[in-house]
Formats: sequence, structure tokens, C-alpha cells
Amino acid sequence: MPNFEGFSPRFSSQPIEVYDTTLRDGNQSVGVNFTSNQKLRVAKAFIDSGVDYIEGGWPNQTNPTDLEFFELAKSMDGSHHAHVTAFGMTRAANRKPSEDKNIQALLEAGTKTVTIFGKSWLFQVEKILRTTPTENQSMIRDSVEFLVSRGSQVIYDAEHFFDGFKANQDYALSTLKAAEDGGACRVVLCDTRGGSFPSEIYEVTRRVVSEVNVPVGIHAHNDRGMATANSLFAVSAGATQVQGTMNGLGERVGNADLIEVFANLHLMGIESKLQASKLTSLSRFTYEISGLREDAFKPFVGKYAFAHKGGVHGDAVLKAEAAYEFLDPSTFGNVRAITVSSQAGRASLLSAVHKLGFRLSKDEPKISTLLRELKSLEALGCNLEMAEASMQLLLLRSLSKEPDPFRIIDWEVTAQNTAGKAYAQCKLRVNVNGRTVQANARGNGPVNALDRGLRDVLEMSYKQDFLAKLTGYRVREIDSESATAARVAVYIDFADSTRSWTTVASSTNIIEASLAALVDGYAYGLRMQSKTRRRQKGRGLSSGPKQ
Ligand SMILES: [Zn+2]
Repeated sequence: MPNFEGFSPRFSSQPIEVYDTTLRDGNQSVGVNFTSNQKLRVAKAFIDSGVDYIEGGWPNQTNPTDLEFFELAKSMDGSHHAHVTAFGMTRAANRKPSEDKNIQALLEAGTKTVTIFGKSWLFQVEKILRTTPTENQSMIRDSVEFLVSRGSQVIYDAEHFFDGFKANQDYALSTLKAAEDGGACRVVLCDTRGGSFPSEIYEVTRRVVSEVNVPVGIHAHNDRGMATANSLFAVSAGATQVQGTMNGLGERVGNADLIEVFANLHLMGIESKLQASKLTSLSRFTYEISGLREDAFKPFVGKYAFAHKGGVHGDAVLKAEAAYEFLDPSTFGNVRAITVSSQAGRASLLSAVHKLGFRLSKDEPKISTLLRELKSLEALGCNLEMAEASMQLLLLRSLSKEPDPFRIIDWEVTAQNTAGKAYAQCKLRVNVNGRTVQANARGNGPVNALDRGLRDVLEMSYKQDFLAKLTGYRVREIDSESATAARVAVYIDFADSTRSWTTVASSTNIIEASLAALVDGYAYGLRMQSKTRRRQKGRGLSSGPKQ
């Protein structure tokens, strides 16, 4: 951590608590909408990785998914260390907690711990709640007290705390005291609008830690791009709980990213229960289940976090990793990647060849041929760094004796519009191990029809070995000045139960490029699958597909 005037970090000697709100705040991200079953899968995965608190949602009649989740969560094995928590707000003004539906719903959720939020900022008390400062303090105290009297452990989230503190320190602090008086086990300072700066967070948190007698938490939003820094500075001022989401999901630009925060704390030697080596798989799992595209450039855990483009840097890293890496990728479960591109040196290409299990020397003429082939593909607009499977296939096709699992003989596709409905049909002939297999398929467009036809053939021929699913499809124009005659590069993402991969192909015919990228993707999946089977057989394991 940096050193500056007035900054003297006071880290807790206790492990820092991990409070995850991916299922509540993270579910507010545009494009994310977890089902109750997905929430259960997330909760289980997070518990296995060491998260202390999993905030499952806001149980009330307008949130049936959250009500369902809390019902499902009751059946979860209770032996784990984590707390599944229900989230809600303080009682309404001038109402008893026992008569407040939201408070009742929190109890009905059946979690041992509940988190409630209340107002710390007079502006919010007057303009939003439209009540008096004193009634607001009573709302906080009464609600916490009532829930504690019913056996709940209560975490109090002080909404807009930093804005409230800047406007009126004494009042903001008095709301925390009200929660403490009511019996809250934690008070959490929220930078709800995400507008604070690390130095402010540090000073205010430090003051709060010296004023209250319960552990203090931080809940930062990322509107200034400061949520990771703000969480770390709060911890350095004595906060012992960090609230946030995996991958920084959340409304607007998101919450503090627990992956980044806890990776940094780990590197600083500050303990938590979150298992550092699981951070990469945790991040990828969260992207996959939330339906969001993986950020390959994400610090610590991204696919390219330890990728070195060939040439000088790639060569140097192969000699000494520390040359361009400040930490070992395996610390967080990630791996190093030396990408092979036209800029690549021989050493990077050789490393890719060795990774596939082939032994070639640096001076082998084949290496020069392969480098030339890579260069010509890139000249046609295929960025192989973004499509490692295509690059590996190029090497496999040249070095391996094993032929491709299938080959397209010919195809025909027609697109039409009948009675206002557009669709496409295709005829396809495929050579599978010397046998010709035909397919006719229909789709909503030509690429969809070809994909369906090809899948029909492969599912029939390879049965349970054919596991590849399509997870993404993008087209990038290469020479847009040629207008509709432009060459395009098509990128397709695939996944099966254990891996994900991307292929690329380029053509001036978008259907041809799409089919070539599809063929490569399915061929790669089948090759990898048969490699896994061979390895399992070698170890005497069941040769069945992985569930
Ligand atoms: Zn929030």
C-alpha cells in the first residue's frame, strides 16, 4: 500500500470477512437475471470457495424468485461455515416492526442472519423517506432490536453513509449508534452512489472504527472506477468486512469486485477464508452463469491476464517469468499464455507446439512453414490470438497423424421469405471416417440452418462424445470500404462441460466463413474429447463423458 501523509494502515489481525451480494446487488446488472435454481448453484459454489456471507436477495411478495430461493436454501446442508442472508429495509415510518410486512418477510426467509439498510443522510431522510431525523433513528433502532429479539443476527447497512457523513457527521454517526443500540452485529458503510475517493473512505472509516463498538464493513460501488481501491483503503482503516460481488457485477457500473479486492488482500498477506487458488474458476463460473461475456483482460483471472504476445516479451518470459509478470499466475488458479501471431518469434511458436505434445527443434523447416501459414491467415484478417483453437488446429493438422474427425464434402443453402416469414434450408454432405452422411435442415437463417444440419450429423455419428455447445458468434468486417463485398472474419465461441474455446475463419462470403469457423470449432471439440478419453483409459478411469 502507498504511504502518504496521514496514512498509517491499521489492518485487523482477524481474517477479513467476505460478504457477497452477487445474488442481490449483482442481479441488478443490466442483462443479468438469476433464476432461483441458478441462485442456489451460485450459493453452493461460493460457499465451497470460502465466501462467509451470501446475500440471497430481498424476500418480499414482489420478488417471487427470491422467495423461492430462500425456500430452496433451507434444504442446503447446514454444516458449512457460511451464512446465507436475507436483505431488506428498516420498518416504515410510524409503524411497528411487528406490523411491517417487509420485516415479517425477512423472518419468514428463515436465515440466521439478516441484513437491513437504513438512511444516514439527512437529505434522504427528508426528501425520500419524508420523515423526521428522530423517527429515522427510531426506525433503525426498533427494526434491529425487533429482529434480534426474534433470534436473528443483524447486519446493518448504512446506505449513503459517506455522502451523509460529508453533509452532517454527527447525524450520520448517530444512525450507526442507533443500529448498535438495537443490537446489530456489524455496521456497514455504503458508498451507494460510488462517488467517494480512497482518501475520504480511509478517513471516514477510521473515524467510525474509533466511534463504534461493533465490527465495521465497507460496501463500495464503482461509479468512479474506485471500488477496489476504496474497499482496500477501508480495510486499511480497520474495516473487517468487505461487501461486493464476483466480477464486480451490479447496478450502473457495478459493485466492488470481490475477486480484485481479495486478490490484492492476499498479495498483501491479509487473510480471509476465500481460497486464492479458486479465484479464476470463481470468476469464470460467475460469467458463465450470469450469461455475461468473460472479460479476458481482467486482472489476475482473465484469460489474457498472463498472455504475452510473441517476440521480445514472449521470448523473455520463456526465459524468466519475472521479466514481465509481477506474480505467479497459479496463485489465483490462472495460467500463462504465450499467444502465437505473426509477430511471434520461433520460441513462442515452439512453446505452442510443445504444449500440444510434439517435439520439434527450433531449426526444423516445419516451423518456418507454420510461421508462414500463420502469417498468411492473419493477413486475411484472422486474429489468431483471439482464437487459440484455430491456431492449435493449424498445428495439429500439420503435425499430427490423426485426421480431422469429419470433413464437409459439399453444401447448398437457400434463404427465402414466404408470407412474410424468412427462413433458410440447407443440404449438407459430410465425410465421417470415410462414410458419407447427408443432412437436410431448416433454420431462421443460412448459418443457423447449416449449424443444425452439421450438428445432426455429428450427434448421430459421435453420440455422447459430441458435447460442444455454441456460446457466441461475431462477425468483424476486414475491408469495409468494399461495402457488401467486404471480406469478413467470423469468430465463434464454444464450450463443453470442461473447457471453452474460440475459432476464426475469414472469407468474402459470410456463410462460407461461418461454416469454416463452425467446422473448426466442432473438430477441435471432438479432438480434445478423444484426447481426454485416451488419457482416462490410460489411467484406467471410466471412459464415459464427464457429467
Ligand atoms: Zn449496493
